[in-house]
Amino acid sequence: MTSPSSLRPNPPQRRGGRPFLVYGAPVIETPEIDEVVDSLRSGWLGTGPKVARFERTFAAYKNAPHAVAVNSCTAALHLSLVAAGLGPGDEVITTPLTFCATINAIIHAGATPVLADVDPETMNLDPVDAARRITPRTRAIVPVHFAGRPCELAPLTTLCRHHDLALIEDCAHAIETRAGGTEAGTAGDFGCFSFYVTKNLCTGEGGMILPRTAEAAARVKRLALHGLSADAWSRFSDRGYRHYAVVEPGFKYNMTDLQAAIGIHQLARIEPNHRHRETVWTRYQDALCDQPVIRPTEPAAGTRHAYHLYAIRIPPDARVDRDAFIAAMYERGVGTGVHYRSVAEHPCYQQRFGWRPEAWPHAFRIGRETVSLPLSAGLSDQDVDDVITATRDALGDAAPRCMRGGRAA
Ligand SMILES: *Cc1c(COP(=O)(O)O)cnc(C)c1O
Repeated sequence: MTSPSSLRPNPPQRRGGRPFLVYGAPVIETPEIDEVVDSLRSGWLGTGPKVARFERTFAAYKNAPHAVAVNSCTAALHLSLVAAGLGPGDEVITTPLTFCATINAIIHAGATPVLADVDPETMNLDPVDAARRITPRTRAIVPVHFAGRPCELAPLTTLCRHHDLALIEDCAHAIETRAGGTEAGTAGDFGCFSFYVTKNLCTGEGGMILPRTAEAAARVKRLALHGLSADAWSRFSDRGYRHYAVVEPGFKYNMTDLQAAIGIHQLARIEPNHRHRETVWTRYQDALCDQPVIRPTEPAAGTRHAYHLYAIRIPPDARVDRDAFIAAMYERGVGTGVHYRSVAEHPCYQQRFGWRPEAWPHAFRIGRETVSLPLSAGLSDQDVDDVITATRDALGDAAPRCMRGGRAA
């Protein structure tokens, strides 16, 4: 991810003198600015009524029975794993094509991450490979709805039921995602969402947990605030001082009203923003059909894609390799992202778990070939034109071929 601070002081301009297009810039509008100011003026900066309101509206949007706001998706994953009872000796199956936070949360819960490869068409965890990795120590599966495309929830839920495993969905890309009648994040025991700046809904930093049961909701809520008894949340009311009791050693993961103030209004615009990104995604998909790249697979019938990422793959026989393409886009004034190099490429996990990226060949290859073009609700038609032109230029004029979802079309 390219953040403004990692840019050169004067990043290259686009053609026509238009300013550098930052990858993943959030769209902040007047209602959330006014709401934050209202919180500041009220003096209520911590967890309070706006967090409660954001939890209610998010649960309603996802048609979920419970929602607990936290300060990141990483925190959401960590608490969900702890609340699912995971600990030392337990194995958790997940995908190598994810952000490191998914892996780190498993490690911090005391469990051991076990990777299963992705399906190269969908980039999502392959349920067949996941089933192969189950051992007597396996206790949970953590799939990621990659780029906003729903995972294969039916075989995964069956697998979990059959082997008595917890299902914890990493929905960092998947706020608007649905498969059949099932909202992403409500298929298993916990759904974990991110409101980081580059995500489809942003609160600066923030996250949400959708627990399936009331007991699990109470547990993650308690763990998010030092492990204090439920009563402690009345510290955030004005009913006067009350003693609190520590019930278990918890964490400090609660969301603040300042964050919720942003989230409430971002959520109110989630659908028009989704429609806009769908339009941009489709324009890229159509405009790049004659380019020597592998485009993302079209959304499956009966599902809803969240259009969080638009990622192309630059195969080894293209004129430029992926990293040269990223540099060429930068010189043309366009920021890009990589989602993701296989987590098995990172030295820390290699040392700890003996991982070798070749053991998950699809994720390894995708991680070397993939690059994400800007996809945000803030992109104008002109921005999209610029990205398409820059992409064509950066790829060079290699022989036109039409490829989609891993095969020539
Ligand atoms: C962004 C992201 C996370 C972490 O989210 P934070 O809110 O930044 O903690 C976890 N998993 C995936 C797949 C992500 O993209």
